[in-house]
Amino acid sequence: MHAAACCRLLGAGMLLHTLATAQASPPPCPEAPAGYDATLWQRAFRLHHAALVVDTHIDTTTRVLDTGFDMGQRAADGHVDLPRAAQGGLDAVFYSIYVDTRFYGDEAALFAAAPPSIQDDWPRPAEPGAANGSARRALMMIDGLVRTAERHPDRMALCTSVAELRAAVRGGKHAALMGIEGGHAIEGDLGLLRMFQRLGVRYMTLTHTQHNEFADSCAPAEPRWRGLNRLGVEVVAEMNRLGVMVDVSHVSDATFADVLAHTTAPVICSHSSMRALCPHPRNLTDDMLRQLAANGGCVMINYNCGFLDEAYATESSARQATRRIQEKAARDKFAAGSDELRTALAHLDERFPTVAPPPLQRLVAHVLHAIEVGGIDHVGLGSDFDGVPCVPAGMEDATQLPRLTYELLAAGLDERDVRKVLGENLLRVFEAVERRAYELRGTPPRQNDARTDRQPLPR
Ligand SMILES: [Zn+2]
Repeated sequence: MHAAACCRLLGAGMLLHTLATAQASPPPCPEAPAGYDATLWQRAFRLHHAALVVDTHIDTTTRVLDTGFDMGQRAADGHVDLPRAAQGGLDAVFYSIYVDTRFYGDEAALFAAAPPSIQDDWPRPAEPGAANGSARRALMMIDGLVRTAERHPDRMALCTSVAELRAAVRGGKHAALMGIEGGHAIEGDLGLLRMFQRLGVRYMTLTHTQHNEFADSCAPAEPRWRGLNRLGVEVVAEMNRLGVMVDVSHVSDATFADVLAHTTAPVICSHSSMRALCPHPRNLTDDMLRQLAANGGCVMINYNCGFLDEAYATESSARQATRRIQEKAARDKFAAGSDELRTALAHLDERFPTVAPPPLQRLVAHVLHAIEVGGIDHVGLGSDFDGVPCVPAGMEDATQLPRLTYELLAAGLDERDVRKVLGENLLRVFEAVERRAYELRGTPPRQNDARTDRQPLPR
């Protein structure tokens, strides 16, 4: 009943959107790729460019900040820039404000040395004498995106709400939004979380590959908090209050369960795939997806080969491990920059060629499985473009996105359902999170409490 009402609403909203918008005129339809039905390809291409296409996780921000990359120019490498986004009909992107773990330092030392009662002294950096640079790194990432938008005001607009996003796309601009990847960016401080929200951050992935002050990641073998700790519950509550989407990609299964138990708004999984098809801890189990759907949330499927295809993951990591050992031996033996070293490395390239990526159909299989298990209203796209070493063959960069629309139509989805996956589902969740923040307006901000922040939750 609820779902039907929701669908009617969505349908009406979409119709209005279609009538009211004149997005940048679509490029002419290129010839159908080999093996594609020409008529269906044309229909897919038109639909793709008429639909609002949203991606919740793209890492071009790192390239911008670390190499001075200009998104305004079409690059020969990488996955995304403004010309390729326009060509691929990629309308709106949550650019990742990614804070690499090296800015956080050694986790064990960080937690071992934390004094229990002096709030000002906590949390302290891992390396003696080294500062925790996480928040600063996040600020620099934001600055990189702000600089990019200011450099290309005619083509790109920074957006912080569903309304702004839709207006930007209507005006023919690429809508750029921000999501923090790695909750260590707030350095355990609810005040910093508020400041990032004020700068425009609209989701936060609670962890990256390490545990932090308030939540466990899926990567380390041993848990630290067994999910969220008390501060983690406050972080989730404050994100609900601020209208910042809670993102459960990268967190441990226990953290996932705690988040769903405590959030009062739908949550997202911004860039994960399906564990039933590829048993990686970064992926969601069917049961987790059902819980996410019951919460009203949405999973955005990750394009990373290693999360899509188990055979690829096994083979490439085995090859990499062997290659690393042999490369180290060669580097120990020959002088840097020498001809001998160059020859040895070329030889290794020959002996350990990169593993062939799985086909686009493998990605489509994850999308269809997520629809089957979670329902059509709870699936979207979170490519991880420019953040992963391998994407499926046929999805080499953002220009290939219309192929995904073709595959979804070919799999039997109707146009309305394809639009949901391409972006409308995520916008529905984003709107629900905005509504929840509106309901919570006037409630007092959450405060850090040094006496309780680091306590585990009662189990
Ligand atoms: Zn990630």
